[in-house]
Amino acid sequence: KRQEHSVEVHGIDPALVDERAKNVVSTLQDAGFEAYVVGGAVRDLLLGLRPKDFDVATNATPEQVKQLFRRAFIIGRRFRIVHVVYGRGREHEVIEVSTFRAYMDNAAAGQVTGNERTSKGELAAMKHAVDASGRVLRDNVWGPQEEDAARRDFSVNAMYYDPQRQIVVDYHNGIKDAKKRVLRMIGDPATRYREDPVRIIRAVRFSAKLAARGFTLEPKTAAPLVEMSRLLADVPQSRLFDEMLKLLQTGHAAATIAQLRFLGLQRGIYPLLDVVVERADQPFVKAALADTDRRVSEGKTVAPSFLLACVLWNDVREGWARRTEGRNGQRGMAPFPALQDAIDEVFNARIGDVSGRGKLGTDMREIWMMQPRFDKRSGATPYSLVEQARFRAAFDFMRLRADIGEVSEAIAEWWQEFSTADDVRRQDLLDQVR
Ligand code: ATP
Ligand code: MG
Repeated sequence: KRQEHSVEVHGIDPALVDERAKNVVSTLQDAGFEAYVVGGAVRDLLLGLRPKDFDVATNATPEQVKQLFRRAFIIGRRFRIVHVVYGRGREHEVIEVSTFRAYMDNAAAGQVTGNERTSKGELAAMKHAVDASGRVLRDNVWGPQEEDAARRDFSVNAMYYDPQRQIVVDYHNGIKDAKKRVLRMIGDPATRYREDPVRIIRAVRFSAKLAARGFTLEPKTAAPLVEMSRLLADVPQSRLFDEMLKLLQTGHAAATIAQLRFLGLQRGIYPLLDVVVERADQPFVKAALADTDRRVSEGKTVAPSFLLACVLWNDVREGWARRTEGRNGQRGMAPFPALQDAIDEVFNARIGDVSGRGKLGTDMREIWMMQPRFDKRSGATPYSLVEQARFRAAFDFMRLRADIGEVSEAIAEWWQEFSTADDVRRQDLLDQVR
């Protein structure tokens, strides 16, 4: 049943709503359409948080939406949504506008953000939808708002906010759950996890994120998680990899690991995530996770390559040491080829399927390959090192190694200074270590 809540009930501070999102909603409404801020943004607004991005849901089709805005782009093949763009360059803001969709089309799950990847289960659901309706479902299946709400995951993620009238539309007791601080799956949890196993990972992500606000998973929502987690085997590796990054890079990595362990999901979601959880208490990995959370909280960017390079550093170091050591009277390999070789081995063993992500792998490799160069503080090496594109990441990595005592504090400080000094001061610094 549809419930409308006034500001006395939901208490959303209109000042937290992005002007551009308000503009999108009012433009659509002025053209005679229904339009609301939806999903995670409403959840965060209800909790008094400033949402990091705003999604809008409407009964206008993508073509109709596009016509109303000067810079609007239809994206996605199967689940077309519109990106309305404001501003330029680093300051630009994208408001994602999606058309209300029918619940039958639960193949759409996880596609809200324009993700094109499809799991086997989703493909089956697609086929079924095609057979049942007798038409080609290359496009969206539009539906009423009520169904759009029902196909969403958690009750607190399924509310609609109208900033003009300041009302929240709620079909699944989202407001009540937000007040009670429970994360509850809409419908029968096991069925919903079967429809889209990625919801298992989303349950972990949101419960970790919201734990700090006092939320817990509703017992019925939590109960099937472990058993259902085997269904993740049918989800494409690339989508799992993306979800893993969301677990680790949205500012709640430490809470996520605690939550994974608490729920009994410490293994089996994704091989690389197993490694992260296993090593989360090792000083270096722990420092890297804490550093990632801190950076996000300060509004800084985080690169997946950095965190993964930290997590796998132990393997690289061991493989490297093994190769440089002489054995049975044989001389060991020279340091650089040994490091290169050790890195190859780690990539083969741990990164496997996602090695197609060229940039990620290249960046990790560079961070690692630059580490021995921090030992060389003479000649032209320091000058060329600080000019490298990935110097900052490699330096931050070395800085973390210094934090745990793997590199001397003096060396870390020396590089900190050298990297920001002018030429005269740099010469001084070089003279110092001679
Ligand atoms: P965040 O703050 O992390 O962006 P969010 O709630 O906005 O959280 P998104 O992944 O951006 O999460 O998805 C937007 C909305 O789309 C969700 O709030 C939810 O209503 C719906 N949604 C996304 N993925 C799924 C899914 N796999 N199954 C059901 N609904 C989903
Ligand atoms: Mg979002």
